[in-house]
Amino acid sequence: MAISKKSSKPKKKSPKYRIKKNDTVYVLSGKDRGASGKVLEVNPEKDRVTVEGINIVKRHRKESQQSGGGGITEMPAPIHISNLVVVCPHCKSRMRPVKKAIEKTSEGKTRKYNVRACRNCSEQLDTM
Ligand SMILES: [Zn+2]
Repeated sequence: MAISKKSSKPKKKSPKYRIKKNDTVYVLSGKDRGASGKVLEVNPEKDRVTVEGINIVKRHRKESQQSGGGGITEMPAPIHISNLVVVCPHCKSRMRPVKKAIEKTSEGKTRKYNVRACRNCSEQLDTM
């Protein structure tokens, strides 16, 4: 008798709208606390974000690898999304974005979008 596996629904709240690629973020904790940088990659499944210049780790490479022989490569390691807040490009404040509904009309049709907006100056962070 086959046992059907029912995947349990993920119960955690998804913070995915908070931080996106190319955002500038500020680090709240960890060894790079107080630093800021540009988001290079977001991993929503693990809630981890890779930020340019943040959480740099040294990777030792073997000489047999194709890319330029051996040595030590420094690269940013992903850090947990809860350690980051978005920096508003308009007013430079550090905040958790709020959701904002906007309407956009193209080709005679009006559609509603949810975008992120700055909590402080209300400027929208996402470009459509
Ligand atoms: Zn702002």
